[in-house]
Amino acid sequence: MALIEPELIKSFDLLTYLDWVGKPYTLTNKKHTKKYVGVQCIFHNDQGQYLGIHKDTKAFHCLAGVCGRSGGLLELITELEHISYQEAARRVREFQTGVDTPKPQEQPKAVITPGIHILPPEASKEFKKAHLDYLSGRGFDPLALIAEWDLYCTWNADFYDYRIVAPIKNRNGEIVNFTARDITGRPDAARYLMCDEAKAAVSRKHCLYGIEKTTSIVLIVEGPADVWRMGRGAVATLGTEWNTEQVSELLKLNATDYYVMFDGEKPAIKSADALAQTLMSRGRSAHVLELPEDVDPGELTPEEAKTIREQIGLP
Ligand SMILES: [Zn+2]
Repeated sequence: MALIEPELIKSFDLLTYLDWVGKPYTLTNKKHTKKYVGVQCIFHNDQGQYLGIHKDTKAFHCLAGVCGRSGGLLELITELEHISYQEAARRVREFQTGVDTPKPQEQPKAVITPGIHILPPEASKEFKKAHLDYLSGRGFDPLALIAEWDLYCTWNADFYDYRIVAPIKNRNGEIVNFTARDITGRPDAARYLMCDEAKAAVSRKHCLYGIEKTTSIVLIVEGPADVWRMGRGAVATLGTEWNTEQVSELLKLNATDYYVMFDGEKPAIKSADALAQTLMSRGRSAHVLELPEDVDPGELTPEEAKTIREQIGLP
């Protein structure tokens, strides 16, 4: 008999588990399709998040072209927690039944104060031509954008190299996390990398990019570039897959109206609908703004963005 039933593996809540075990992940790794969650490979010195874990089967493959490792959920858990296969199978069952599992290391996370020290040590305001070209190539006025969103950049860096660093702030405007966008388009790099959870003042689960500039009308989009395009009043969930912690943060804003505008592809529209429904179930006025298929808000022209702002009453 197998150690674990296939149904339990399929229904295993991978993202909650990765949070629980403290393994940062990305949902926007270009090397993988949307069916995969990317984490830093545990088998080689991975400078990206190239280990792709399939959301349904939980099978993993390293796509860095270095270690070539692959395997299943139990092997992944044994590697992450340094436990046996039997213990890994027990872990999967515990997650299924919702038993309150003690964390692997019972050390409480150190309290990290908000501030500029959250950013990568190499982050600076010394933008090079490549950064400015990247931003203008995406239709932004680089200097205005850098000033408006307090952007930083990296060049040669240990981990976050060749990136635009966008500080993620709390409602008071203090830096609590960050997301760093690759400017090179190199196929082996994750498009966005966030702050290591252990070093963040606020876990990524609670972050909404752009929250410090919101008013009574809140436009919810997917990524930082969407916020840059749509302007003040837009917040990004940092991926299509929003979570309940972010919903709590949205509710705390007490906005009169929430508008959700994700990408124009089917899974994103479904996710946007679910978010609007959730906000409505909490007594808020929420609406979905649908874009044509394959259009994402970050690619709208400034004029199109302005029209949408006017339609929803954003000043
Ligand atoms: Zn690898």
